[in-house]
Parts: sequence; structure tokens; C-alpha cells
Amino acid sequence: MAAAFELDLAVQDFVRAPFRKMLIDGEWVAAASGKTFDTVNPASGEVLAHVAEGDAEDIERAVRAARRAFDHDGWSTSKPGDRMRILLRLADLIDSNAHELAQLETLDNGKSINESLNVDIPSAANTFRYYAGWVDKAYGQTIPSDPEFFNFTLREPVGVCGQIIPWNFPLLMAAWKLGPALACGNTVVLKPAEQTPLTALRLGELLMEAGLPKGVVNIVPGYGPTAGGALVRHPLVDKIAFTGSTEVGKEIHRETAGTLKRVSLELGGKSPNIVFADANVEDAVQGALMGVFFNQGQVCCAGTRLFVEQKLHDEFAATLAKHAGGMQQGPGMDPATRVGPLVSKEQLDRVTSYLEIGKKEGAKAVAGGERNTGKGLEQGYFVKPTVFTGVKNDMRIAQEEIFGPVVSVIPFKDESDAVLQGNNTFYGLAAGVWTRDVSKAHRVARAIRAGTLWINCYNVFGASAPFGGYKQSGYGRELGSYSIDLYTQIKTVWMRL
Ligand code: NAP
Ligand code: MG
Repeated sequence: MAAAFELDLAVQDFVRAPFRKMLIDGEWVAAASGKTFDTVNPASGEVLAHVAEGDAEDIERAVRAARRAFDHDGWSTSKPGDRMRILLRLADLIDSNAHELAQLETLDNGKSINESLNVDIPSAANTFRYYAGWVDKAYGQTIPSDPEFFNFTLREPVGVCGQIIPWNFPLLMAAWKLGPALACGNTVVLKPAEQTPLTALRLGELLMEAGLPKGVVNIVPGYGPTAGGALVRHPLVDKIAFTGSTEVGKEIHRETAGTLKRVSLELGGKSPNIVFADANVEDAVQGALMGVFFNQGQVCCAGTRLFVEQKLHDEFAATLAKHAGGMQQGPGMDPATRVGPLVSKEQLDRVTSYLEIGKKEGAKAVAGGERNTGKGLEQGYFVKPTVFTGVKNDMRIAQEEIFGPVVSVIPFKDESDAVLQGNNTFYGLAAGVWTRDVSKAHRVARAIRAGTLWINCYNVFGASAPFGGYKQSGYGRELGSYSIDLYTQIKTVWMRL
């Protein structure tokens, strides 16, 4: 077992540096203030690495570099083949450094090494590869017009993009944002989450190695209100792309109203996962478990409201509780771990407070329901996989985003009741439906107001499939051709013949 925890030498070096610098204009630099902050290993509560703490002054330098790279250095007008080659090279570099990146991700975020290695890192590489393919396919149109004119459109980059990402899929979220932005010829200032800055910084090194010109991507770690806020407010930034909480999303919406920056927001969720009695129950149990416990439940589209048809409810809840209770919990670096720690002490406090709220509201924890302080886990931020029954859809635990390994099981009478309860939320990011009845699956898929619908599956993603929210889960769609829309603007050209 000890061997399994051994770190790559490159990882040891990376975290042991006196502090990790930020990337501005192709140079690795300290913060202007000289300040650093700590990032913590959530499995042990110990400091993992020190990182330069960017704030308004560093954002200023980064934005100016990105502005110059966009306006004067030729990135936005570079040959498509050049941008494509860099993105493909980057994807290959991510693959060839996959073990190192996976270990860094697991140490910083807590997620299991199997998930880092098999999901996060290869999906990030794939995203860059996919958008490399778009570089020479973002066409304009030739528009039928009166014969004395020639009318066509050009699809042009938006400009300098400020990208603010969360801690739940640190490298993958960077890839979702950077891939399309770079493919379309934009330049970027990226602010990773303060809890998980390491893989973004390593990605910065790989971007330089791939041959990206200086200033095209600048990576400024730091805190939300300071570094993030300065980026949101900066007048030379043309677009903000944000993934994170609905609360901060609303603040960004307010802040940017004054400048009319382009904004896209991918926010929280409280997604319904609906199991009908005619479903393949074994599959539905596995789907419900993965739907809510994947990444410790720190997933914006997690199926946290599990609606089960009345006649199947008790049996289903009991099976779920049995499985949840048996899930192996431990440090992410242990390959046997299925459920790791939460990302931070703050997140631990938030999730455990919701466990108490749920109990006070009258729900019953039939699995978990408490912090896990088992042997070796005492100092980490572990919460046992939790299944609540006796939940009503209007309880706080069924309405508010907990962002932890906590599922509320709620019975429903029939199809229309499932749809009614499923839609009874401010959010609308995703939903699942489990049934063998094809027509019913289609009806429910249409009736639920959410950006993604999974039928007899859950948490399935692809770089070519759009993802984003209805209602307070945000606006704008990422991935697929939709990200090309987010990172380009259309110019109409009229020419008299
Ligand atoms: P958050 O505050 O929304 O963080 C997301 C990103 O926004 C981070 O990079 C954060 O910086 C930055 N940020 C925070 N305040 C900002 C501001 N005023 N201006 C500009 N940027 C700002 O989320 P959190 O506090 O880490 O987590 C809180 C809750 O958000 C979670 O419990 C969960 O419910 C939800 N969440 C949702 C998602 C999702 O994918 N939809 C992801 C993460 C969290 P810092 O790193 O300094 O915070
Ligand atoms: Mg950390």
C-alpha cells in the first residue's frame, strides 16, 4: 500500500518550491505585493504548497499583457494552423504528464487518484484536442442579398477574456474555458480557485512549452473578492466567463452591468434524479450513487434530489443506504478510495451544518449523516456518504446547494407529480430519469426545465455536447459549437459590387 502513495519526483519538486509563482506576460513572477497564500491537502489538513497571491495590481499587469497580445502581437490574426498546432501540442503534453497532473490534482483537491487519472486529466486533454479541431471550422456566412452587394459575415474573437473557475474540477474547468477561447483567437487572464491553484499553474508551464506566445494566457492565483473582483471590474476586459456559486454569479452579473462586458455564467444546481418503478433498478441504484457521490458530491449537476416512485421508494432507499455505507472512504491518493475528503475546512463546515439542518427539519440519515473521523482520517475533511429519507421537497436540504456527499430521497406518486416536484427549484442545471418506458422518458425529458437531461445514465459528458443552466443555474452554453459562440462575435460586411 505504501508504494501507492509515492509521489512522482516532479510532483515533490512542484509542491516543495518556496512558493509557486504566477504567469504574467510569459514570465513566472511573484505577486507585486510579495504576498503568498497556502493551499492545503484536504486529506490531512496540512499545508501542501505556498502560492503567489495575486490582487488588483497583478491583475492590472496581466490584463495589460493580454490586451497587448490581442491588439498588437498578432495572436488574434495568427494562422489557424498555428493555433491548432499549439492546442494539439498542449493536449499531448497533458497526456504525457498525466500522472504528475493527476497526483497534483488529487493532493490539492482531495478527489480519488482514479478519478483524476481516468476522468479529469484525459478529459482536459480531450477538450483542448476537440477545440484544436474548431480553429479552422468557425465559419462565417455568405448571405443572399440584392445583386449590387456582396454580403458576408466574419466570426471574430471577443478580445481579452477574464476566466474565473472553481475548485471542484480545477484542470478540467481550465480546459473548458481556455480551449475555445484560444481556438477562437482570444487572449486570457485566468483566475483559478484559491483552494486548488496547482494544476492551473502547471498547465501554464505546459502552455509555454507548447509554444504559446507570451501574454496570450496569464494565470493569476488569488482570492475571489480581490483578484477575481479586479478582473471582473477591469475596463480593458471584454468578456467574463465564470463557473461557481449562484451567489457570486449574481454579483458578477451586477458588477458587469455597468460596462456591458460579455458574460457567461455556469452556476449551481439542485438536480432532480427521477426513478420510476419500471426502471432497471440495479442500474438506477448505481446511477443514483454515482450521480451524487462522484467527486464527493462537489459537482454542480449532482443528482441531489432523488425522486423515487412511491411503490419502489422504501426498497430503493434501503438498497442505496446499504451501498452508501459500504463505500470506501479515505485519502484520494489511496487507489482503493471511492470517496475522498471535501476540498476545504470551509466546505466541511458547510456540509456538516447542512447535516444538522436536515436532522432538525425532520429528515432521517439512513446512511452517514456525520463527519468521518475514522483512523487516519481525523485531520482530513471527510464526510460520510449520506442518504436522507423522510425529506420533503420544500426542506432546506432539498432546496439549497449543499455541495457534498448528501442525497435527499423523496417519494412521488406519478409522472406529473415527478415533473412538478422535479421542477420545483430555482435551479435548472441537469436532471436524470430512469425508466424502461421510452415515451415516458421522452415526455419527462421535455417537461423538466434543465440544461442537461440524462436518460438511464447520469454525469455523462462530452467535449462536443453543450452544457449549461436554465433558471438560476446560469446562462450561456459551454462545450461543443456553443463555446465558439461564447468566444466569438459576428461582423457583417457589405460590399458594393
Ligand atoms: P465561489 O466563491 O463561487 O468560487 C468560484 C470562483 O469565483 C473562485 O475562483 C472564487 O475565488 C471566485 N470568486 C469568489 N468571489 C468572487 C468575486 N466577488 N468576484 C470574482 N470572483 C470571485 O464558490 P466557493 O465559495 O468556492 O464555493 C461555495 C459554494 O459554491 C459551494 O458550496 C457550491 O455550492 C458552489 N459551487 C458551485 C460550483 C459549480 O461548479 N457550479 C463550483 C464551486 C462551488 P476563491 O477561490 O478565492 O473563492
Ligand atoms: Mg487545496
